[in-house]
Amino acid sequence: MKIAIIGSGYVGLVAGACFADTGTQVVRVDVNEAKLECLRRGDVPFFEPNLTDMVKRNWPRRLEFSSDLGSSIQGCAAVFIAVGTPPNEDGSADLSHVLHAAEDIARMTTRDLVVVLKSTVPVGTNERVCAVVKQHTKYRISVVSNPEFLKEGDAINDFLKPDRIVIGTDDDAAFEVLHRLYSPFVRRQNRFHRMSPKSAEIVKYASNALLATKVSFINEMAGLCDAAGADVEHVRLGMGADSRIGYSFLFPGLGFGGSCFPKDLRALVRTGQELGVKCGLAEAAIVANERPVSMMFKKMQDGLGSLKGKVVAVWGLSFKPNTDDVRESAALKLIHLLANAGARIQATDPEAIETAKLLLEQMGIAGKVDLIRDEYEACKGADALVIATEWPEYRNPDFPRISEAMRGRNIYDGRNVLLRAAAAEAGLACFAIGRPA
Ligand code: NAD
Repeated sequence: MKIAIIGSGYVGLVAGACFADTGTQVVRVDVNEAKLECLRRGDVPFFEPNLTDMVKRNWPRRLEFSSDLGSSIQGCAAVFIAVGTPPNEDGSADLSHVLHAAEDIARMTTRDLVVVLKSTVPVGTNERVCAVVKQHTKYRISVVSNPEFLKEGDAINDFLKPDRIVIGTDDDAAFEVLHRLYSPFVRRQNRFHRMSPKSAEIVKYASNALLATKVSFINEMAGLCDAAGADVEHVRLGMGADSRIGYSFLFPGLGFGGSCFPKDLRALVRTGQELGVKCGLAEAAIVANERPVSMMFKKMQDGLGSLKGKVVAVWGLSFKPNTDDVRESAALKLIHLLANAGARIQATDPEAIETAKLLLEQMGIAGKVDLIRDEYEACKGADALVIATEWPEYRNPDFPRISEAMRGRNIYDGRNVLLRAAAAEAGLACFAIGRPA
């Protein structure tokens, strides 16, 4: 079976490598030549655990990379669209890449085809894509909505062992094509959920909105704990013990970021507005997500006094561990506030130094931030240390080494991962989120 996947980003590349790993012939198509060149050298243009090995294992036998859409889609059982859907100014999803890709596929196909929408798109997009393809081909194109639920940092595992495979289609033959493609991943248990395209489109946004709301909720409780002198870690443990609530996404910290939650929440709110429905909870989750970074900044001002001329070490730049993705990263938002207040930043990250460098340049603060590979080197002469991303290697650090390197004594734990007693033994004071000092 042969398929093509348009878009070689996190989703397209992971999906392509995983499908190829089951024996499917996969052609990856992208407009970004630099990315394709990198892939043809056997390199993956971003960091995702185990992805490079999987790409190498399948390339070039079952995995090809091409910029030629016309020849790539010939003989394909399905063509997946996995291009970006970034936010427009008004919060709505920019569908131009999806619609262009759909139009190009329709123009170039020489027979009936199944087109699969893998990108995250608002409800009603399947209908729009159907209208676009109809205009540009005489062949029958069945458009299926198949949202992706993988998470960066554990994407391969998520794709190989999915909780659910949502397939939005009224077309039995198209469903069968996807059923065959995904069956190798769900041998133990049927995890297919077939529904209408509109319902499938909403499942994705509703899932992300609920997870983000959980994060914002526990952060709101952390603010309450801070004000009341309670400990949010005890509150979290007490709450999560209820199996109806559970522990996942109940970690207080600097808030959610990345390329999905913030943009998907805004797009959901916007879609609601267009349909005359107020998605007030999603709106509240967005607003609540602004607070943890500013609360941490205030805590630092209270502890350090004026930040002008202060040196602040920051551990972690990516929006979460195990990725080099810095889009909407809380770490960079905090760095922005600190740099604007006159602090000099010494920042480090195991994987995201290069991606952060580009974004800091775009933010206009690259000159105020030294990017340093070694985390203890980053502490040298610092007045304070912030843990901004909970990379595993930051969770049990060598506190005496930090203490020796730093000028100041304060550590601001933006992810509540440090053992405060161990920090205290080295003469360091640890300020966390929603925990008494
Ligand atoms: P990305 O920005 O990493 O990659 C998108 C790729 O599409 C880029 O390489 C770009 O060059 C390519 N592209 C754009 N237009 C094209 C065209 N006309 N033809 C060929 N290639 C084209 O995006 P991503 O993170 O992989 O996300 C893709 C979609 O999946 C988005 O809608 C996103 O919301 C959704 N999603 C992302 C994740 C995630 O964790 N990143 C998870 C689930 C769903």
